[in-house]
Amino acid sequence: MAQLDTRGKLAILADAAKYDASCASSGTSKRSSAGKEKGIGSTEGMGICHAYAPDGRCISLLKILLTNSCIFDCHYCINRKSSNVRRARFSAEEVVNLTLSFYRRNYIEGLFLSSGIINTPNYTMEQLVEVARSLREDHQFRGYIHLKTIPDADPELVRQAGLHADRVSINVELPTVGGLKRLAPEKSADRIDGAMREMKTSIEDGHDARKKYRAAPKFAPAGQSTQMIVGADSANDGDIVTKASTLYDRFGLRRVYYSAFSPIPDASAILPLKRPPLMREHRLYQSDWLMRFYGFQPKEVVAATDADGMLPLDIDPKLAWALKFRETFPVDVNLAPRELLLRVPGLGVKAVNSIIVSRRWRALRLDDVGRLTVSIAKVRPFISATDWRPVTLTDRADLKTHIVPKKEQLELFAA
Ligand code: SF4
Repeated sequence: MAQLDTRGKLAILADAAKYDASCASSGTSKRSSAGKEKGIGSTEGMGICHAYAPDGRCISLLKILLTNSCIFDCHYCINRKSSNVRRARFSAEEVVNLTLSFYRRNYIEGLFLSSGIINTPNYTMEQLVEVARSLREDHQFRGYIHLKTIPDADPELVRQAGLHADRVSINVELPTVGGLKRLAPEKSADRIDGAMREMKTSIEDGHDARKKYRAAPKFAPAGQSTQMIVGADSANDGDIVTKASTLYDRFGLRRVYYSAFSPIPDASAILPLKRPPLMREHRLYQSDWLMRFYGFQPKEVVAATDADGMLPLDIDPKLAWALKFRETFPVDVNLAPRELLLRVPGLGVKAVNSIIVSRRWRALRLDDVGRLTVSIAKVRPFISATDWRPVTLTDRADLKTHIVPKKEQLELFAA
């Protein structure tokens, strides 16, 4: 096999990393400026992705794998042992040099590094840690580092990852233990849980130590996250929402990422042939948001699912919940507590905060609320104000059709 140069390895290992959703943006249409297509920019490229830093800035990261070779054979993964893909491998030193040279050219502000498992989990983890260590200690690299860690590796190695990286992540991969056994038989749900628990403890110890001693080293200051693949097994949205909430509670995760399964070349016969609708991934992110910022309990989100445990694709989960539990409405915008206002479809956290501030000074009318929202039509059936009460709207059987904008075929030659 011909030796690959750095550019060749980068093409393979950046492409292989695109399946990791932890810092990817999905849902956009594909546009490319390569080849015959003229122009600049592309939504198809790989190698550099965007992520939000703990201070809220959007930063560019070099997103690559150390290697796409792997001794495991997870059915859903393009890098699995039995996959017929071209393999490549960077040395730790090559990743360090690549990161530094991209950083110096101002292409990136950090590194997102994952890897297939080579030789043993410990050996692979040592290599990942070595990249982060060398960047921090040999080159005083102050940029952002996100390391994927390997749950089967020695806990001490995983802990070292946290000493150098801003964020660490351990993928749970699938929402149910049965799904994991079937699609990733070499992985163990218990070992994944154990690694996450150890990480949580180390992060908490790190925080405590920093409170006592200012000179104590930082430990994974951006916390830990995980990723779940959606649509590769039979788990429904209810299962996924429940699993995500358990992960947040038990392991103090900063984020759970949902990645719609995408069919891979030479896929295993036990995988579905089609990818789930991207909208499913989007609805799961919205439900995640409801639990983290809107005070919804997981069982309430699950209550918004249909008989098959799936969230509706045509409306968001908050509206689905409101339509099912209409007895909660209308909510009086002048009197209702914050947690009830947050239940109103179409009212976001910012709008609710503004309502609470404004109503201290005067009674709010429907128009006042309209100025705070994108669509008053969506909000109107669920609120009351000094000049508005949705007398018949809330009980209408066809309420959904009045709120959800009709889908229109766009005109091909419209001006
Ligand atoms: S361990 Fe990771 S890289 Fe290896 S086959 Fe499984 S998912 Fe893919």
